[in-house]
Amino acid sequence: MTTTYPINDIYTCIQGEGVQTGVAMVLVRLHGCAVGCPWCDTKETWEFEADAAKTAIADVLGANPQYAWRSAADIADYVVANHAGPKWILLTGGEPAQYDLAELVAAFHAAGYQVALETSGTERGHLNAPIDWVCVSPKFDMPGGKTVLNDTLAQAHEIKQVVGKQADIDRLDGVLAELDLSAAAQICLQPVSTSAKATELCIETVQARGWRLSVQTHKYLGVD
Ligand code: SF4
Repeated sequence: MTTTYPINDIYTCIQGEGVQTGVAMVLVRLHGCAVGCPWCDTKETWEFEADAAKTAIADVLGANPQYAWRSAADIADYVVANHAGPKWILLTGGEPAQYDLAELVAAFHAAGYQVALETSGTERGHLNAPIDWVCVSPKFDMPGGKTVLNDTLAQAHEIKQVVGKQADIDRLDGVLAELDLSAAAQICLQPVSTSAKATELCIETVQARGWRLSVQTHKYLGVD
């Protein structure tokens, strides 16, 4: 049976965060997330309201709660027709890994794109898909009650921890020690919501540890 995916938005962007900052990508946002991060800047993707269901991808574009369930082939065709410039797809959400991503990744690869994924680490839908760059931004102890899964962290190319306070770094340290992941993935610290205090803490820590600072450059540039 053909898998379908709930498209919330598709547009060409510059990756603003993490190791791939500055790379032109086609952002493909899948609808739906149960993690419940208080600072989430895509809360419109959380719920599937019946009156927000649409048929065509063109009808859901933009920051809104609308979604359209489409096949991997339909989505890849839409991207090729409308966003042929970038060489990368950025799969994000919502929480895209709550869906089995194998068909979607295969369709993008067949169309000539590489695929990057942003996930909270609480779902496993990407683990059987040959994704080219997996960024796990672990969302520990969020209101949705979802658990960050060790096997999602173990397969990450990049672990991007959002930091508001020292306890967030301590939480990451605990996981890294438990899983011995320190050499496997590139570790980024990202100040929450471009907070000045959190930025100072992140800079001090990445300098002490030899990690990487991730700033949300798109917010400084004023672009999506
Ligand atoms: S995991 Fe991402 S989409 Fe879901 S609530 Fe957290 S920040 Fe928002």
